[in-house]
Amino acid sequence: MFESLSDRLGGVFDRLRGRGALTEADVRAAMREVRVALLEADVALPVAREFVEKATEKAIGQNVLRSVTPGQQVVKIVSDALVEMLGSDAVELELGVTPPAVIMMVGLQGSGKTTSTAKIAKRLAAGQANFGQAGRERKKVLMASLDVNRPNAQEQLATLGTQIDVATLPIVQGQQPVDIARRAMQAAKLQGYDVLMLDTAGRLHVDQALMDEMKAVADVANPAEILLVVDSLTGQDAVNVAQNFSDQVPLTGIVLTRMDGDARGGAALSMRAVTGKPIKFAGTGEKLDALEAFHPERVAGRILGMGDVVSLVERAAESIQAEDAERMAAKMAKGQFDMNDLRAQLAQMQRMGGLGALAGMIPGMKKAQGAVASVGGEKVLVHMDAMIGSMTIKERNKPELINAKRKIRIAKGSGTTVQEVNKLLKMHLEMSTAMKKIKKMGGMKGMMAMLG
Ligand code: GDP
Repeated sequence: MFESLSDRLGGVFDRLRGRGALTEADVRAAMREVRVALLEADVALPVAREFVEKATEKAIGQNVLRSVTPGQQVVKIVSDALVEMLGSDAVELELGVTPPAVIMMVGLQGSGKTTSTAKIAKRLAAGQANFGQAGRERKKVLMASLDVNRPNAQEQLATLGTQIDVATLPIVQGQQPVDIARRAMQAAKLQGYDVLMLDTAGRLHVDQALMDEMKAVADVANPAEILLVVDSLTGQDAVNVAQNFSDQVPLTGIVLTRMDGDARGGAALSMRAVTGKPIKFAGTGEKLDALEAFHPERVAGRILGMGDVVSLVERAAESIQAEDAERMAAKMAKGQFDMNDLRAQLAQMQRMGGLGALAGMIPGMKKAQGAVASVGGEKVLVHMDAMIGSMTIKERNKPELINAKRKIRIAKGSGTTVQEVNKLLKMHLEMSTAMKKIKKMGGMKGMMAMLG
């Protein structure tokens, strides 16, 4: 996620970090780079301009120039400004007090609306929709598709409902969206549902008929949440779409899908600034559990190239034993990371939705992912496991022992090549270097403190 923005900003900050004292000209030059980086990442021009103005003012006003670590202070100022631009913190779903709470999903065709409807329904049904401590109780959820334009849209939702074991409103052919919404409300009330999710019709482009339909449905259903689903890969277009919807429908939040793709990050950064609405969820894959709460401070950290260790540990905790996760977090905090850890992580990757979902979370992982993709994707995880299996215990604990001769032995033992062993070692090195960087900043606490 956010590759190019993160890479570009990384370059700017590396230069600043190395300097003892900065001049005002240094700060201004760095901020110009930040502006270019934002524009290249598809951030809307007014948003980028405002961001840079604010950050420059702060950097110069706060006596950064005379401080001991001016570079780091500038990084912190930019990081804080990013967090502010992304919205201050994760915002949870508002389900109101009198059930059924209606969640209306709106957006263009193909944005991932139906998939996101099912993802959120699944979370709610499992009692984890809000990811936080609140809202832990399981909800009784009903889904209804109001999409009468796209052939099979209603059937698609019904199929997803079966997959996740969530009820869908029976389909009545020929019924119009507002009438379906009424019928769904009635069914939800009579049958004691806590939440009703309305998956509305999409269009290829924003048009007035669509907007009128959204408004009519909202009038009937009086939704607690109107979530706009936008595809983060569409960059600037996504921002325009958000602007259009937000002008006409009282949105309460945004779901940003395809964050697992090669998004330039501009959409996420602009969205909040342009609509004033919080990004409530991020879609991170096609699978129905590939949905995350949107944590601005973590995304800002990711953009600044520090990796999203907190998300990683949380995700890991969901799929592995709690004590394993704690041990892993402790090791990360200490800046230790040996082959045994790498092996444990490789094994978890498959359970956690593969490499795609993890990219950008582990520090240094983005590069490692490139290395993995270049030698054949997921199947390479199996090879890596075999290579680590062919190492001696000493080698696993201290991978720097592995010289050319040992590499040949490991490659033979695992049925791989020296080249593959090299790639594995490189991946390990990059990850452990990143961990050490975090340690230098005072561990995870230090990193969090730095991110504000
Ligand atoms: P709709 O027309 O807006 O209802 O879009 P769909 O929900 O049918 O999604 C269109 C396609 O995008 C489907 O193939 C989904 O699997 C895919 N999709 C949805 N959300 C995500 C996501 O977060 N990441 C990825 N990679 N694919 C997604």
